[in-house]
Amino acid sequence: MRISTDAPVLVTGATGYVAGWLVKELLEAGVTVHAAIRDPAATHRLSHLTAIAEKAPGEIRFFRADLLQPDSYEDAMQGCSVVFHTASPFTVTVRNPQKELVDPAVLGTRNVLETAVATPSVTRVVVTSSCAAIYTDAIDCRKAPGGVLTEDIWNTTASLAYQPYSYSKTLAEKEAWKIAHGQDRFRLVTVNPSLVIGPALAKKPTSESFNIVRQMGDGTMKQGAPKLGIGVVDVRDLARAHMAAGFSADAEGRHIISGHNTNILELGKSLIDKYGDRYPVPRKSLPKWIVWAVGPLVSGISRKFVTNNVDVKWRADNTKSRHALGMSYRPYKESMEDMFQQMIEAGAFRKQGYR
Ligand code: NAP
Repeated sequence: MRISTDAPVLVTGATGYVAGWLVKELLEAGVTVHAAIRDPAATHRLSHLTAIAEKAPGEIRFFRADLLQPDSYEDAMQGCSVVFHTASPFTVTVRNPQKELVDPAVLGTRNVLETAVATPSVTRVVVTSSCAAIYTDAIDCRKAPGGVLTEDIWNTTASLAYQPYSYSKTLAEKEAWKIAHGQDRFRLVTVNPSLVIGPALAKKPTSESFNIVRQMGDGTMKQGAPKLGIGVVDVRDLARAHMAAGFSADAEGRHIISGHNTNILELGKSLIDKYGDRYPVPRKSLPKWIVWAVGPLVSGISRKFVTNNVDVKWRADNTKSRHALGMSYRPYKESMEDMFQQMIEAGAFRKQGYR
């Protein structure tokens, strides 16, 4: 793979957890990065990126843009060869899923890709989709051929009323393919990561990934954790996947980017060796009937979600990513330890008395 430094590239949502490591890879490869962000005045949210740029051969330029403002990516995209579209709200606590999730995901994707169609320099668009565009619940794996999710499968079970984040990612990726198929300016490549874990570059990460791992150290899971089937990938491995999707000549189509088929309990248990003596990390399995009875009251998860995910194996096939993008995946224990260590240092568990 040759990483071209001839033209700048655009990264949307450059303040994000996933985007941070991608921007780092690009700058260290000597690429000029046009970083599209909502609020360039919030310099404290950009300092990690400027610090990397100061030491790297590449250059970073910030542009103001919002997914919901038509044409607002025009300036940032001028002269760019590759567009990495990572911006999309990743949160599960919303009041108005249409407004807070679906609109920014879908209208934002349309906004960015239509600008790409109109920008002569753009030859490749990489959309950060998600495994959430492939499945909603671990139980969906059972309907997949051989019980394993592949790039051929689309999520048909999420809706505005049930798992709206997954619904937003499904609609957004479909919108991206619709636009891509109607033009011949650029090739669309999607990366579809499972749950992203590992350390953040920004001081105060907002990604939902941190809320999940926080519960493993703040006492929420001290009685145990559900065997909730899930896939995970390290954020640094995901950055390499984006690079290959953006610069490999032959990259095409969708790519499941997931290092491991696992569950929440196994992820928690990977912290025992290093942190088990000081933090209330989960050690045993919470029986499904308890999660079913109590989960909706204490953490707001629905009984349908418990039924469809707890004690249900999650399996996805990452073969295409390894062959087409040259991916290799680090062990999740390393990702979890690096993430947890960073959260300790940031005082994430101090309020609950764990230091
Ligand atoms: P994140 O840290 O919360 O990043 C989300 C980014 O989207 C932020 O930069 C945010 O900008 C931007 N954004 C949100 N609404 C916007 C709007 N209206 N206009 C412009 N920018 C907006 O979350 P993340 O985990 O890095 O997620 C990045 C991408 O990866 C998303 O597409 C997400 O769906 C995908 N993904 C994440 C995971 C995971 O486990 N983390 C798994 C699969 C896929 P502000 O900083 O201004 O809010």
